[in-house]
Amino acid sequence: LQVIGAVEPRVADAIGAELADQRASLKLIASENYASPAVLLTMGNWLSDKYAEGTVGHRFYAGCQNVDTVEALAAEHARELFGAPHAYVQPHSGIDANLVAFWAVLASRVEAPALEKAGVRHVNELTDADWAALRRQLGDQRMLGMSLDAGGHLTHGFRPNISGKMFEQSSYGTDPGSGLLDYDAVRERAREFRPLILMAGYSAYPRRVDFARMREIADEVGATLVVDMAHFAGLVAGKVFAGDFDPVPHAHVVTTTTHKSLRGPRGGMVLAQPEFADAVDRGCPMVLGGPLPHVMAAKAVAFAEARQPAFAGYAQRIVDNAVSLAEGLTRRGATLVTGGTDNHIVLVDVSGFGLTGRQAESALLDAGIVTNRNAVPADPNGAWYTSGIRLGTPALTTRGFGADEFDRTAELIVDVLSSTTPTATRDGSPSKAKYATADGLADRTRDAAAEV
Ligand code: PLP
Repeated sequence: LQVIGAVEPRVADAIGAELADQRASLKLIASENYASPAVLLTMGNWLSDKYAEGTVGHRFYAGCQNVDTVEALAAEHARELFGAPHAYVQPHSGIDANLVAFWAVLASRVEAPALEKAGVRHVNELTDADWAALRRQLGDQRMLGMSLDAGGHLTHGFRPNISGKMFEQSSYGTDPGSGLLDYDAVRERAREFRPLILMAGYSAYPRRVDFARMREIADEVGATLVVDMAHFAGLVAGKVFAGDFDPVPHAHVVTTTTHKSLRGPRGGMVLAQPEFADAVDRGCPMVLGGPLPHVMAAKAVAFAEARQPAFAGYAQRIVDNAVSLAEGLTRRGATLVTGGTDNHIVLVDVSGFGLTGRQAESALLDAGIVTNRNAVPADPNGAWYTSGIRLGTPALTTRGFGADEFDRTAELIVDVLSSTTPTATRDGSPSKAKYATADGLADRTRDAAAEV
């Protein structure tokens, strides 16, 4: 911080304050974690200065021998960690990884057959008329993914994201009674909709997904199964999600972030079956800018950490802790979507406390408990105010929390939510954002949260 502070002290101060904040609060954001010092330090060095478009051994720039070393190591660790035939470690984020995957499916399943039919090897050799026809065909494809309010992600074909503009999208939801994924309904929708891509994976669904069944559905309708395991990659790496619940042997392509439950640097990755490997490797410059060598190096370090036997114990504790948190909340009267969890996520429906998700999120933040508001299935408050808060256990599990600490955390959450009431706007109408928490409770809870 001294070195940084000598140049721009306000940045050094913000970094110091971030460390203090993250230590003094209970970080329950399901997509966050604490990367190790080894991972953090690997990102701050001279590899950052190097340009390296291309792939290992095939670069568009000279002098990439050290980048080749770290990229090859990251890919090798990833293949070993996940038992995947191919790993592409260049994506800068989860969104980018999905874009690479979507492009790879379009390239392999739509563009390549069109080139073959036209008797050419490269798009530049197509006649203008054939190229126009191919562009129309590429833009005329369908994606079926989990609906946003069931826990799907914007990048799975929704309009605010480029994927929603690339594909005609349809969604599958969860069973209104149980809140669980209804595979028969997914199959029915897939039969009707006939997507090119069947997308599985989620940001806010608190249960495992049976990827073997998803693959059966994809095969039945001739779709390509892409699984976005951004949230639960750490549970796959730690073999908590195995067999039918491990996406890697079942999906054609798997995408992930590296910074959530996997506990690496911020970034993305694509794992692919051999048939998609070449197209995936063309991610840069197709949809990605030049790779970030320092981040690929940090991915290699994080994957090496995840290959240590201790990581499996960490992954299991993430889930055990989520179960403790869920039980602690339920015992104290909270309502959970699906009634519990079998991954790292607990989704609380806060309407039972008379609050919107936004009010609950803010009241908890005042009390030193960092969460995020999240829509629940068929949410009457929409995606901005919402009726839920999403809680996740990876970060606090990294800090050493066990069942007792998570039970205490559940107690603090319920104390805050049950002592918070919505307030009215100036004209007297109920506000979806404003709230009041019983006098002094937020301060007391903040002290208690720091103590846990
Ligand atoms: N996919 C899923 C399922 C996610 O939850 C997220 C992020 O929250 C992403 C993709 C996007 O990741 P990033 O923010 O690294 O682009």
